[in-house]
Amino acid sequence: MPTISKDYYDVIVVGTGPAGFACAVRCAQLGLNTACINNRQDANNKDTHLNTGSIGTMALLESAKKYHSLIHEFAQHGILANDIILDMSVMLHRKDKILAEIGDKMIDLFNKHNIDHIHAKARLLSSQQVELIADNTGLKSVINAKYIILASGSESITLPNIYIDNEFIFDAKAALNINQVPKKLAIIGAGVMGLELANIWSRLGAETILLEAQENFLSVLDHEISGIAFSTFQNQGLDLRLGARVISAKKGNKYINIEYQDQEGTHTLKVDKMIVACGTRPNTANLAAPEANLLLDQDGYVYVDNNCRTNLPGVYAVGDLTLLGPMLAHKGIEEGVFVADFIAGINNPINYEILPSVIYTEPEIAWVGQTEQALRSTGEPINIASYPLNSNIRAIAVDKREGVVKIIAHAYTDKILGIHIIGNHASELIAEAVLALEFSASSEDIARTIHARPTLSESLHDAALILKNRAWNFPEQFNT
Ligand code: NAD
Repeated sequence: MPTISKDYYDVIVVGTGPAGFACAVRCAQLGLNTACINNRQDANNKDTHLNTGSIGTMALLESAKKYHSLIHEFAQHGILANDIILDMSVMLHRKDKILAEIGDKMIDLFNKHNIDHIHAKARLLSSQQVELIADNTGLKSVINAKYIILASGSESITLPNIYIDNEFIFDAKAALNINQVPKKLAIIGAGVMGLELANIWSRLGAETILLEAQENFLSVLDHEISGIAFSTFQNQGLDLRLGARVISAKKGNKYINIEYQDQEGTHTLKVDKMIVACGTRPNTANLAAPEANLLLDQDGYVYVDNNCRTNLPGVYAVGDLTLLGPMLAHKGIEEGVFVADFIAGINNPINYEILPSVIYTEPEIAWVGQTEQALRSTGEPINIASYPLNSNIRAIAVDKREGVVKIIAHAYTDKILGIHIIGNHASELIAEAVLALEFSASSEDIARTIHARPTLSESLHDAALILKNRAWNFPEQFNT
């Protein structure tokens, strides 16, 4: 039976991914008596609030980049290394240590705020009641609250005809624990997750093939950026096969035999390991008892209004559970904090129009606001400038020249409508772009803002100067 110090709370938060965690801490800060229910455990069966996916990816990407640089880039700096050894167990241990450190910090924060953490599976019974089911015994109990916040996140989509054993065929999460670099690796799905994983394993030396059902690569991105990304990743050696829908995969004696279809017919492919990264769906199976009458849509997303309110009074849903904005950790965090404030009588609405997105590949891809194709489709009069990073002196000095910074502004008002970046540190550069959009800045504002030299951020300044026809350090005008 889960340990419960009381049976009535002001707030119960179900799930402590980024959204639920932020929500619980903010509720406690606002003086609300808060309990959090979570049944996640780390590799050592210790309770954790940490969603290991994104941080594990960050940790391994860093290791993979270092290994790749040592082999392919260090010699240009006059640094020569012989007998390079890749010890995957040390690399994975480092990743797990980072996860443990961050997980411990989160538990400290919970304890500091006197949040009751209950380890159990939760099921909504009514607008004020949650059933707790103990993991090991299955014993049940019920707790009550004035407000209930659902934040149970999302889970990986599996494919029919493919059995994930996490030994040869992995889901995206388990793919961060592969303990030997595969010789030949197939990744199903060239979405954000598939690309980030491909960047890790190809940099560590795996021959990596991405099979993507859609004909268009990263179609949500600005098409100029997705085009650059496609050729850059291909030049790096990623084997990107578009319009390739995987229909089955079976583990044979030595290899995994994959069957996929494209316009030319059915193909087979033999690989050592395979990762399924075909998207995620909201974690709503058994989240609510049928008699609770929680309204879900046909895909299992919790129905919410613009204030994250479900159809049940006092019950809210935040993060990946809803269709309010994309499945992004920072969106979930904002919603968690918003709901805590909202029930405490503070209304700080979220601006869903200005949400940064990042793909943590090398080079990184980051964007905010609208794409060129979306604006053109509505006939919006726009001006565009794309500044190539191979003209930025910091990019040249560090030899990371690939990519562009693209600014789209309204043709009459000059208001910035979208900024799209592919390049080194795009995930950091995008912060300035987000601030610009949040403050309704014009390209003139960025053009007049002094940027430190030599920095990558000058490329935003230079793109804005191109838009204003005053670029002084760039041989060609790129505005259209
Ligand atoms: P996704 O939907 O972005 O990509 C999945 C891809 O798999 C799609 O392009 C789809 O066409 C393809 N696919 C599906 N079935 C297939 C099949 N049978 N054969 C070949 N291809 C197939 O999902 P994801 O990359 O798994 O990410 C899930 C969610 O998590 C997304 O919302 C994403 O934004 C989010 N996420 C964000 C980050 C980040 O912010 N950096 C990182 C990872 C995930």
